[in-house]
Amino acid sequence: MAHGHMIPAIDMAKLFTSRGLKATIISTPAFSQPVKTAQNSGFPIDLITLPFPHHDSGLPPHIVSLDQVTSDPTLLPMFFKALSLLQHPFDDLIKRINPDCLVSDMFLPWTADSALKFGIPRLVFHGTSYFSLCVSEEMRRHKPFNDVASDSEPFLIPNLPHQVKLVKTQVSDYNLHENKDDFSRWIQQMRESDARSYGVVINSFHELEPDYARHYTDVLGRKAWSLGPLSLCTNGGNGNGNGNEMNGDQCLAWLDSKKANSVVYVCFGSMAKFTPAQLNELANGLEASGQCFIWIVRSGGGDEEEWLPERFEERMEGKCLIVRGWAPQVAILDHPAIGAFVTHCGWNSTLEGVCAGLPMVTWPLFAEQFFNEKLVTEVLGIGVPVGNKKWQRGANDGVSREAVAKGVRGVMVGGAAAEMRRRAVDYKEMARKAVEEGGSSYHHLTALIKDIATYLPPKKMEIM
Ligand code: UDP
Repeated sequence: MAHGHMIPAIDMAKLFTSRGLKATIISTPAFSQPVKTAQNSGFPIDLITLPFPHHDSGLPPHIVSLDQVTSDPTLLPMFFKALSLLQHPFDDLIKRINPDCLVSDMFLPWTADSALKFGIPRLVFHGTSYFSLCVSEEMRRHKPFNDVASDSEPFLIPNLPHQVKLVKTQVSDYNLHENKDDFSRWIQQMRESDARSYGVVINSFHELEPDYARHYTDVLGRKAWSLGPLSLCTNGGNGNGNGNEMNGDQCLAWLDSKKANSVVYVCFGSMAKFTPAQLNELANGLEASGQCFIWIVRSGGGDEEEWLPERFEERMEGKCLIVRGWAPQVAILDHPAIGAFVTHCGWNSTLEGVCAGLPMVTWPLFAEQFFNEKLVTEVLGIGVPVGNKKWQRGANDGVSREAVAKGVRGVMVGGAAAEMRRRAVDYKEMARKAVEEGGSSYHHLTALIKDIATYLPPKKMEIM
């Protein structure tokens, strides 16, 4: 239901087929194209589509994906209601195709019941890091945010392997108040369904966050397998069937003319929204940094003339490339000319930055992005925060041009930047080794396959 979940899910299916397993993706029609693209590039993945259940959910018929509803508090609950209406057609399908295992996105908690009904294991895919799963769970258990006097007073997340501090404004409503609204209740259902599942598959690799992988399994008691980085497992970029070939050719040709490590890549994933004023600050900040950059602009927040500084592209000719729409991010990040990444810390982007060995300017906006920022900047030491402290699902604002310029220079110029790059390149190497035959993620998948092959469903009493 969102690109950030579908891209790694398809990569996971590719990975399964590369190890001799049969994989079927069940999707709504809006997300079938990227699966067809994977099929066309030779991966024997099956695709079955279920119609999006608009009827009975109250959703307007043009709504088909999460990014269309995230900033509208009235549409979000309807969207999740629609997802739950998929259960009956889904169960009919499972009965028919009779799989040995179900890998389900976390946004479909009712699949835990389907799996139990059909006596097959359900593996949950959250699409995020061990680190953020640990932060979120320790925060839920200990509620350290209740001990601070103001929104800007830092609190420590107890129990974690590192001293991780946040302020309340960096934390979502659903993390602060479990029962506040439909969405937080939905999140609670997801958590409960995790407990009724066989285990968790994670798009990460052991060497990246070993303390948190251990914390998740040994302290929080979850069964988990690290299969990533999934974007590396199948040698594929994130071709998504969104007609990105032209943007891709243009970007890569432009990068070919640049020196190694000289260009900053700026992209905020598939869902982020900014106010026109923020886009204007960002443009001015990038210009003030004095660096070359590629900037992917997805939501212009209205008429571009409103926010693009006067004669910006003319002034920046040769120094910047603004791409409207979708770009082949993995291929761009891997280009030798790219020297740093300004990212919103969506987990896929973060991991893709790690795989490319890039230092990052972290600019989290919503979801669990503020947690991932902490991992990048304070645990791994491969990024500098731009300084955003405001969790916000709608149009984001509040970051000054000075902060942007300082962040970008911080990862491109000087000794600290060189040190971060050195560490980032080490992680890149570890990432590649993890997915190679004999690497940690390769072993995890071998262990998972063995585990599933000997799976015995819980007895009726245990289910109840
Ligand atoms: N992406 C891309 N081109 C774009 C924007 C995004 O290929 O122009 C991909 C990116 O490589 C990543 C995914 O979309 O795999 C975004 O996922 P992430 O978890 O980073 O953020 P989200 O979109 O979920 O906020």
